[in-house]
Amino acid sequence: MPKNQITTKNPEETKEFARVLLKEWLEVNKNKNSNWLVCLYGGLGGGKTTFVQGLTEGLLVKETVNSPTFLIMKKYNSSQKTNKKYTLYHFDCYRISDYKEILDLGWDDIIGGKNNIIVIEWPEEIEKILPKKRLNLKFEFVDENSRKIKYG
Ligand code: ADP
Ligand code: MG
Repeated sequence: MPKNQITTKNPEETKEFARVLLKEWLEVNKNKNSNWLVCLYGGLGGGKTTFVQGLTEGLLVKETVNSPTFLIMKKYNSSQKTNKKYTLYHFDCYRISDYKEILDLGWDDIIGGKNNIIVIEWPEEIEKILPKKRLNLKFEFVDENSRKIKYG
């Protein structure tokens, strides 16, 4: 069960929350070559993709983040300005019918690699292959501009 929760009042607050979590993780892992697996639960419009935009902003990625729904996976490199080179993999499993589709995208190398930040929308579709060690976030719709995010 998630231990903590926050309610954001607009998309910018959701991005800010993502940047804060990222900053903490980068600080804790600065002398390691860790991977970070972040699973984003919750329905359409909950703010999952908005959260990913906050992460890429924190990594100073120049490209814009769109929902990778039709691509399943998109890859972003952190800017040279970050202390290390990180790769963010954004998965959207909404349309997949079999977790093997994810395996075919090089999943084992991504999960087993170094300095990878792996963020997954609709993780329940690939629960079978998800490592236990991960951060889970659950996005809930409160009203038009508010989202409750449970995490832990
Ligand atoms: P998902 O990926 O979960 O389907 P998106 O991030 O694509 O959700 O869309 C969230 C939508 O909700 C966006 O249009 C965004 O502007 C809007 N929104 C309103 N309030 C918030 C909030 N507090 N946090 C995140 N998004 C919000
Ligand atoms: Mg999305």
